[in-house]
Amino acid sequence: MANIAFLGLGNMGGPMAANLVKAGHWVAGYDLVESQKRAAAETGVSVMGSAREAVSGADIVVTMLPAGRHVLAAWDDFLPAAKKGALIVDSSTIDVDSSKRAHEAGQAAGMLTLDAPVSGGVGGATAGTLTFMCGGSADAFARAKPALEAMGKRIVHCGGAGAGQAAKICNNMILGATMIATCEGFALAEKLGLSAQALFDVASTSSGQSWSLTSYCPVPGPVPTSPANRDWKPGFAASLMLKDLKLAQEAAASAGVAIPLGAQAAQLYALFVSGGHGGDDFSGVINFLRGAQPP
Ligand code: NAD
Repeated sequence: MANIAFLGLGNMGGPMAANLVKAGHWVAGYDLVESQKRAAAETGVSVMGSAREAVSGADIVVTMLPAGRHVLAAWDDFLPAAKKGALIVDSSTIDVDSSKRAHEAGQAAGMLTLDAPVSGGVGGATAGTLTFMCGGSADAFARAKPALEAMGKRIVHCGGAGAGQAAKICNNMILGATMIATCEGFALAEKLGLSAQALFDVASTSSGQSWSLTSYCPVPGPVPTSPANRDWKPGFAASLMLKDLKLAQEAAASAGVAIPLGAQAAQLYALFVSGGHGGDDFSGVINFLRGAQPP
């Protein structure tokens, strides 16, 4: 069992650190917010007074923070206090450029580094069923895998530094765009007098099929577990989808790639979120699209 430091004990990091404790690891945790520290202590995490204190002696350090700037600042702060040769894993969802800079900083300090963003949300973090998308060397991946298995079900090595973040934002851009297309299909069907169930029965077994339709159907009825059946409570909040779509935009601009549908999806989610719906499930965008004026 490893000696692990966990920095960022929020909605995701709190339950992830708790699962590491359950698996028998010794976990030293740190967060900036008192209430998060108290909640983590109740799950068996040994809460420390600073990030530097938490990482000293750790074989593995995991960061689970809001955005790239938080990750770069945190790594900059704790790296001098970490053991040489320790493995530093960032599981936050951040921009690919910042992720690569974090890898460089970690390696310059003599550490092994891995980006390992997740999908599965708070439910998956609590149940220990997250998917980890990993970027880094084969050595870093092999060392991280046993600890990641305590928090997730699918651990995928996607390639070198930043490849995990690239996989995450490309996947979520596809998800955002297919959700909007699916919502538009149901909104159009309603106006054409076609029932939601009839459209579902056809599209779910035809070429319109996608995860957005068959697992997260944006209208109540056809898929009983989808958020539409509970007034579009998340699930996966629209504000988080918007964050990921903006990261895809940044990555595309930096790589010089055109993603017109991804850009349109980002604009539509920005309007939905600015209308006060950031906390709704992202499939709730159907309610916004139903109200949109035809051109
Ligand atoms: P959160 O805001 O609940 O938690 C982030 C925590 O980091 C906060 O408790 C904050 O106090 C802490 N923090 C900030 N700076 C810190 C520092 N320097 N040192 C220590 N702690 C610090 O966010 P979350 O929902 O747990 O998400 C974390 C990351 O996971 C984000 O990048 C998010 O995009 C990603 N993610 C979230 C979900 C989800 O469903 N919530 C799903 C997949 C990925």
